[in-house]
Amino acid sequence: MNRTRREFLLTVGSVSATLAWPHRLAVSAEKESRRQHIVTLSFDDGFAKSSRRIARIYEKFNLSACLNVIATGHHADYAAPGAYIAGSPKGDFVLWNELKQRGHEVMPHSYRHANLKEMPFEEAVDLIRRCLDVFGEQLKGFDPKKAIYNFAYNASTPQLEKWLTARVRAFRTGGAAINRWPHPKQVKLTCTSFGPANCERAIDREIERLLALKEGWLIFNTHGLDKEGWGPIRATYLERLLARLTAIESVDVLPAGAALAKYVDAKKPEEEAPASSAG
Ligand SMILES: [Zn+2]
Repeated sequence: MNRTRREFLLTVGSVSATLAWPHRLAVSAEKESRRQHIVTLSFDDGFAKSSRRIARIYEKFNLSACLNVIATGHHADYAAPGAYIAGSPKGDFVLWNELKQRGHEVMPHSYRHANLKEMPFEEAVDLIRRCLDVFGEQLKGFDPKKAIYNFAYNASTPQLEKWLTARVRAFRTGGAAINRWPHPKQVKLTCTSFGPANCERAIDREIERLLALKEGWLIFNTHGLDKEGWGPIRATYLERLLARLTAIESVDVLPAGAALAKYVDAKKPEEEAPASSAG
């Protein structure tokens, strides 16, 4: 039919001004205009083995993974708050820098995975500050103004949310799985999760709910692959899921920061991308 063949290189998910985005996807303007559903699988706790495998699986589909890591999780004396986090080695900032360079999103998921609701405000703020300081010192190109702070246990308070609002691009906490389409004032992102057993059916259910809506942004908080972490998914499931989602024209699979960058903070790709000389 009379489909426009105009294609452009769409830069997806770059939240760093200092790094070139390694995955440039050719996406037709027509297809891009039909995207109405964003799916963010938000992988927490920074397990080294799972994070490497998640990154490789996303790369098969030219996608960027959303990895949220504990600032001190890799320290030899790190005292994990439970068996699900303690059970598997965490990555360090050598790995996080490598994965970020490869186009994945690496975001803060607390200083030491404390529940900030269970301590005085000043103590909680000190831990967030220390977390952001570690990221600023150790993750190349990290900019808190473009960062998503992912609360441990998705546990926040209105006071902490207010404090963070001035310091990061957005924060992720507990609440509805489906968020509004990205918009400029969106600072509070909410998510759901499922565990401690395999969470694949919960993800499938949320995706069905999302696709039944005219538009929306699903943020599902997951952890590791196969047996790693709380509420894991199988690597084979993740691969099948991404194959399925990338075949649906209305769906955009994005990390949280990239979704805000692409649909809010950057100009619309249609407006800024020059038409390709290739007819
Ligand atoms: Zn966690």
